[in-house]
Amino acid sequence: MGKYWNGAAVCQPGLYRQVYGRAVGLAHSLFPATCYLCLDPGQKPALDLCTGCEADLPRNEPACPICATKVSAAGESCHRCLRRRRAFDAAFVPYRYEFPLPELVQRMKYRGVLPITRILGSLLGRRVAERGVPQVDAIVPVPLSAKREHRRGYNQAREIANFAARELGLPVEDRLARRIRETAEQTGLSAGARRRNLRSAFMIEAGAVPSRVAIVDDVMTTSATAESLALAFRRAGCRRIEVWAIARA
Ligand SMILES: [Zn+2]
Ligand SMILES: [Zn+2]
Repeated sequence: MGKYWNGAAVCQPGLYRQVYGRAVGLAHSLFPATCYLCLDPGQKPALDLCTGCEADLPRNEPACPICATKVSAAGESCHRCLRRRRAFDAAFVPYRYEFPLPELVQRMKYRGVLPITRILGSLLGRRVAERGVPQVDAIVPVPLSAKREHRRGYNQAREIANFAARELGLPVEDRLARRIRETAEQTGLSAGARRRNLRSAFMIEAGAVPSRVAIVDDVMTTSATAESLALAFRRAGCRRIEVWAIARA
């Protein structure tokens, strides 16, 4: 019995999101936004993070413009990107996966705390907007496999993408890509196994594919998942592919 006693498993993901979204909207109209980290007043419109805590978040600067890994000087590409071309053109990840990001992300993933995805998604959208008008036509959240999404009840990348898209006025295309299997860790694989691993993790629906997309994930750890999805989009005819995530591990 215990195995089935799980809100996320018995609840329809779409319905859950709808009801939850309404409840959060109602709560925000009744109570002012409160900082999730220090309980000071939050920001308007409805961001549960105060300006002080936002300013204290660990910025990912300087970072490689292609893969967003830490580098020693601004504008410099990392040695890996210099050696090998990536499947995507650029990556933008505004924060490092350091305190308090791991705490926030863990709570979001495993306890289903959706207000956190609002904080992270809004921040991502705002940081992207600060760099100027994004050169993409649509935002594509990294899909979970159907099984994993059903178990969890939602896909955190999609929630983040939705809130970021609201800040940017861009459409979210969350039905374009489908994950057909989980990507294995790339480390320890031979070059051939690595290519096979990347090649077949995602499928892009046939039809109109936007020519410039931003792939959105929560945390960018290795670039394996992003590379795999980017490769699928490249094959489907995309011209420009960016990767956006909230934190770089
Ligand atoms: Zn605060
Ligand atoms: Zn790089």
